[in-house]
Amino acid sequence: MGRSPRRVKRLKPAAVDDFRTAAGATKDREIVEASVLDRLGAAHGHFRYESGHHGELWLDLDRLFLDPQGLAPLACELGARLAPREVEAVVGPLAGGAFLAQMIAIELGVRFAYAAPAPSSPGEALFSVAYRLPATVAPLLEGRRVAIVDDAVNAGSALRGTFRALIEAGAKPVALAALVVLGDSVKPFLEQEGLHLERLMSLPNQLWTPSECPLCARGIPLTAGGE
Ligand SMILES: [Zn+2]
Repeated sequence: MGRSPRRVKRLKPAAVDDFRTAAGATKDREIVEASVLDRLGAAHGHFRYESGHHGELWLDLDRLFLDPQGLAPLACELGARLAPREVEAVVGPLAGGAFLAQMIAIELGVRFAYAAPAPSSPGEALFSVAYRLPATVAPLLEGRRVAIVDDAVNAGSALRGTFRALIEAGAKPVALAALVVLGDSVKPFLEQEGLHLERLMSLPNQLWTPSECPLCARGIPLTAGGE
């Protein structure tokens, strides 16, 4: 719609500057982490994640997007950290990842696309959910340097699905950016695929396959409200 970069800049909330000019990197990080934590409705229970793994931590990510103006400074911060990667497009898995990816694409002045989980029902195998780029958009990403953006990364089901869709489209995924990374189970995948990681914070979380899950072993039912 012909919006100039200057106009976008004026729309940034004042809080963005607070992040970037706060005295000392530690204080900077604490402000960002407090803001992320405040926006994640963390719940404890017995959950089955999209990947098929079980775990004890659940984040109410839908609530994050209730306040886009409050989220904008965090998107700006992630965008600033991604800038040196010189990506030409930002791609996020639906739903939350795509909302955040679009905010970051505006920030960076680059292309945006989403990847949608395939309608087929997930199987019992781990990482069985496939993701697809819109058919008309996929060819436009061929040869482009892409950052994958997700709101929270746990086992990395949506990350892997989006990554595979990008590779099939001939794109070059170079980085992952997320508000929060849970545990470290996604690290081997990032290292294997050479993806640079930018995250605003990390939270501990242990993942189990259903057969190894100690909560299942104790007969604790899956918590309602999770997947
Ligand atoms: Zn379990």
